[in-house]
Amino acid sequence: MAKTGTIYLVGAGPGDPDLLTLRAARLINRAQIIVHDGLVEPAILALAGRDTRFISVAKRRSQHTMPQDDINALLVREARAGRDVVRLKGGDPLVFGRGGEEAEAARAAGVPVEIVPGISAANGAAAAAQIALTHRDASSMVTFVAGQCKGLTEQDWSGLAGKGRTLVIYMGVKTAPQIAEKLMAEGLAPDMPVAVIENAARPQMRVLRGLLAGLPELVTRQRVKSPALIVIGEVTAREDQSVAQLAAEAVL
Ligand code: SAH
Repeated sequence: MAKTGTIYLVGAGPGDPDLLTLRAARLINRAQIIVHDGLVEPAILALAGRDTRFISVAKRRSQHTMPQDDINALLVREARAGRDVVRLKGGDPLVFGRGGEEAEAARAAGVPVEIVPGISAANGAAAAAQIALTHRDASSMVTFVAGQCKGLTEQDWSGLAGKGRTLVIYMGVKTAPQIAEKLMAEGLAPDMPVAVIENAARPQMRVLRGLLAGLPELVTRQRVKSPALIVIGEVTAREDQSVAQLAAEAVL
């Protein structure tokens, strides 16, 4: 029987191949099989060797092409057949990436699993837009939340946004109106600065700025599309003006 392969859960970062770790680049380059989702840029897949087999399990917000259990089963099956499998994910595998579930499935099946961190969208977007997630004068706390979870309105976000804090919302484009409403109902000032960073660290990046009360309109008027992050807090209003000029600006 073939020796069991290893499942590598690899973070692909926000999109720019230069933002891969060296370890990720090496694993992609020598991979026999790459199982990837929709957020991974073609320029990154292009780093694979000529014989690499690609399996796309693209997951869009409302269209799951492959259920998570089937993905887990696929990874385990390939590894048991003796192949090393690179499971490539946008950003970091352990930040809203279901890497935890895949690692559990591998461990339960007795298949070796290794996790390679990636630059999460929040870090990539912050650097590209020159927004400090923490700043000694403006924020000493940063929280990552998912804006698309079931029961968004029931989730307790109180205290996560406000003065001296930064809130980074993943997957929040569609629910921007509910998010703005929820935060204001929890007492956040309507004039709290916000930024929306679309396609961070990719050539088509846009950085849009506004105020919390105007967030739904900003997203609609500018036709913001996924992938995008919403950042809420005073740090978003401290940008370097040269960056502001480069980016498509929207000040409400
Ligand atoms: N594991 C990923 C997150 C996956 S959830 C990570 O660590 O980044 C998918 C969400 O991530 C998207 O809906 C979007 O909110 C965010 N995202 C991923 N890539 C992005 C990018 N290049 N620019 C802006 N947001 C991005």
